[in-house]
Amino acid sequence: MVSESATTMFRSSLRGQSFASGEPGYDAARVVFNRVIDRHPALIARCAGAADVMACVRFASEHGLTVSVRGGGHSIAGKAICDDGLMIDLSAMKGIRVDPAGRTVRAEPGLTIGEFDRETQAFGLATTMGVISTTGIAGLTLGGGMGWLIGEHGLACDNVTAMDVVTADGRLVTASNRDNEDLFWGMRGGGGNFGIVTSFEYRLHEVGPVLGGGVLYPVDKARDVLHFYRDFAATSPNELSTQIGRLTTLDGIPVIGVAGCYCGSLAEGEKALAPLRGFGAPIADLFGPISYVQMQSMFDPWFPPGRQAYWKANFLHGLPDEAIDVFCEFALTVPSPFTTGPWLEHLHGAVSRVGPTDTAFAHRRHPYNFLVLSSWDDPSEAQRNIEWTRACWDAMRPFMVAGAYVNYLEEEADPLARSAYGPNYDRLVALKNKYDPANLFHINHNIGPTRRAPTP
Ligand SMILES: Cc1cc2nc3c(=O)[nH]c(=O)nc-3n(C[C@H](O)[C@H](O)[C@H](O)COP(=O)(O)OP(=O)(O)OC[C@H]3O[C@@H](n4cnc5c(N)ncnc54)[C@H](O)[C@@H]3O)c2cc1C
Repeated sequence: MVSESATTMFRSSLRGQSFASGEPGYDAARVVFNRVIDRHPALIARCAGAADVMACVRFASEHGLTVSVRGGGHSIAGKAICDDGLMIDLSAMKGIRVDPAGRTVRAEPGLTIGEFDRETQAFGLATTMGVISTTGIAGLTLGGGMGWLIGEHGLACDNVTAMDVVTADGRLVTASNRDNEDLFWGMRGGGGNFGIVTSFEYRLHEVGPVLGGGVLYPVDKARDVLHFYRDFAATSPNELSTQIGRLTTLDGIPVIGVAGCYCGSLAEGEKALAPLRGFGAPIADLFGPISYVQMQSMFDPWFPPGRQAYWKANFLHGLPDEAIDVFCEFALTVPSPFTTGPWLEHLHGAVSRVGPTDTAFAHRRHPYNFLVLSSWDDPSEAQRNIEWTRACWDAMRPFMVAGAYVNYLEEEADPLARSAYGPNYDRLVALKNKYDPANLFHINHNIGPTRRAPTP
């Protein structure tokens, strides 16, 4: 229990707003992407800057409060928000400054991918981010960050050069190759386990216009398309990153689509994409020169706010014929038109040139990430969709490696958290012991400390 006077004093010390239950703005502030999540923090502190974040961490530590940290609020497991405790909401921290000459950017953790891309693309620059523009840059980067530039420029976390981090003792430190290297290593793939990032610095690259879009086929042609795609993806140049999956078009047609982005010269892109665009009898070929910002929002209409969601994902060791059979079987039985999946993200190029233990993100050598992104409107449809998703995931198990992408983990998959960190788990536990022995930051895919915090 925190006294009313202590809470009042804390709230008045903040530069940003704060919301308690029943106050105007509270209910809007506790909404996250996945509407299955309906939690009620005791207090939501919408921080205006690093000083507010430091004050929140100190207040929570002093009073033994549960803490959750919200960046863009897109964690499907709802890790941005807690019941009863203090939700540290970074969504108002949207400062960004691009250095076009140095090709770097300083960005605050409340930015969405769309906001980030808009600023960097004003200078023709970009770095890897996810493929839906409403996702937050912070949680995405801390867990890894896979997107259309993965083959040429690696993960989002591979392009981070420094972070300002508020640690569990309320101090602000820098994590980079020069300062607190151990923390820098752990925060590139270890999620929010070690502290709260108040500012990221990323390396940028010249990007755009790109040759982007997709080719759509009737869903009953999935087997032929997947067999073709397996060879096509394996020989794609680094500039071309692709994904394949089942979705329902916005006018209601179930399709199997190969989406892609070529980020090099448009002429070379035409050559690289020619075999795909020449394959079979597609319903539509939507490839063309587009801006990188357009590319980054291409899938947005399939992920509007306000829906319920249940996701499962895991890396695959390959795509044998039997895995294609499973994919095709489930592509024909998807229960909701809002579901995208079964789906495959292809990993290649720059992401796999970094060693699995060079950063905390370990899963760099698997060719595919398999996803089932189930979504529906009516809560009464939850059970049917969840059961189907689990059945699809279970059927694909024989082709999975031991290890999922931490940013796609569901709540009940927490026992899988250990394998999500792969060979880096023990080193991450040692880091947790050093930076957060009391496990203040545990509303995440948690790396539990093994050393007890000293009593103050
Ligand atoms: C529609 C959609 C599309 C997606 N597409 C992609 C994709 O293309 N590629 C990809 O790699 N992933 C993708 N993801 C997964 C995405 O990476 C995760 O959901 C990620 O957690 C989103 O970050 P966020 O800041 O929005 O999340 P939040 O829910 O705000 O936070 C997620 C986790 O990160 C922690 N966290 C957030 N900010 C900070 C911070 N500043 N300091 C410390 N910890 C922090 C939180 O405490 C929480 O544990 C997608 C998710 C959705 C819902």
